Amino acid sequence: MDFLPSDESHIDPLRDLAEQVENYRRQAEHLGRLMNGRALLECPACGMHEDELADMTRIVATEEMPGKDTGLCFAAMDDEEATWWCPGCGQPFSPHGLP
Ligand SMILES: [Zn+2]
Repeated sequence: MDFLPSDESHIDPLRDLAEQVENYRRQAEHLGRLMNGRALLECPACGMHEDELADMTRIVATEEMPGKDTGLCFAAMDDEEATWWCPGCGQPFSPHGLP
């Protein structure tokens, strides 16, 4: 018989389960960030900003007409999304609250 009773063999299934749960949690977190986890952007130069409507639609509105979608959108200037380009005034900016 290859069965070797040891403390290890009792612990492993639980540890595997814990790791799986942790993995699912990470995946869910990652997905959530992709879907809507990013903070709403706001241009510090001209006030153009992203807003979220009640139906979860994300719009880009100007400071003068909040809540009215301009149809424009901010563009990330790097893969880390650390710098964004404002479609309103053409200024690059770094949003607050990024990790
Ligand atoms: Zn701007």
